[in-house]
Amino acid sequence: MQKQFHILGLFPDLFKDYFSSSLLGKAQAAGLLDFKYHQLRDWSLGKNQHHAVDDRPYGGGSGMVMLPEVICAAVRDLKKQHQIEHVVMTTPAGHPLNPKRARDLSQKKNLLFLCGRYEGIDQRAVDLVVDEEISIGDYVISGGELAATVVIDAVARFVPGVIRNDDATVEESHEAGLLEYPHYTRPEEFENIPVPEVLLSGHHGKIADWRRQESLRRTWLRRPDLLKQADLSEDDRRFLAELIHKKKIEN
Ligand code: SAM
Repeated sequence: MQKQFHILGLFPDLFKDYFSSSLLGKAQAAGLLDFKYHQLRDWSLGKNQHHAVDDRPYGGGSGMVMLPEVICAAVRDLKKQHQIEHVVMTTPAGHPLNPKRARDLSQKKNLLFLCGRYEGIDQRAVDLVVDEEISIGDYVISGGELAATVVIDAVARFVPGVIRNDDATVEESHEAGLLEYPHYTRPEEFENIPVPEVLLSGHHGKIADWRRQESLRRTWLRRPDLLKQADLSEDDRRFLAELIHKKKIEN
């Protein structure tokens, strides 16, 4: 079944090149995904109101706020015209994007992404027409277009058939609550650095153990916060305890 991603914002032209390239472009050509871009200015206020889409914030402060009439009219029209099941708004104040959220969104029929600009969108419009607010990380970028691109790409990878080998999404960083192990390809030695020997051994069990340990090592070094939630075996815990012990001795 084809999944449609509708994108509503002030800069709909920003998306086309990205979504028509590589993996997502192929999925689109195969009819698995469809992207529809909608210009928010098409719902701007009338001529007497200068075709506005934003206004100054009540209470003062810098920047502009996107008008609730414009947002609500646009979202409601699009919901009527297309079978949109769920409306997502990208905002740094949203729930963090993670694999579970992306997978859940991939199971909804058609999605509408609302891209903010300026200071964001009037809260009444958010309360009235937005189903979910998502953040791509603890930093602020200039507009929702880039954030929506990130969320849509992460969601599209979970749509059946988009990635040929579905195992690829299962092994990736964050899926099992850990960062992924490092990858190597030819040549066997590059600038005096050899590929880890175990990867050339053809021994699947040893390769799997090595990858698991490298995953644990990376996660411990770079994102120790993830280990609290990760599903760890007795062997994993023993390996981590050894790492910590070695580190203490080195210091
Ligand atoms: N005043 C807002 C705040 O502090 O929460 C930031 C507004 S930002 C300049 C403009 C738009 O960029 C937002 O409405 C949102 O759509 C998008 N945006 C910025 N950072 C984001 C993030 N980390 N995740 C998702 N969207 C983001």
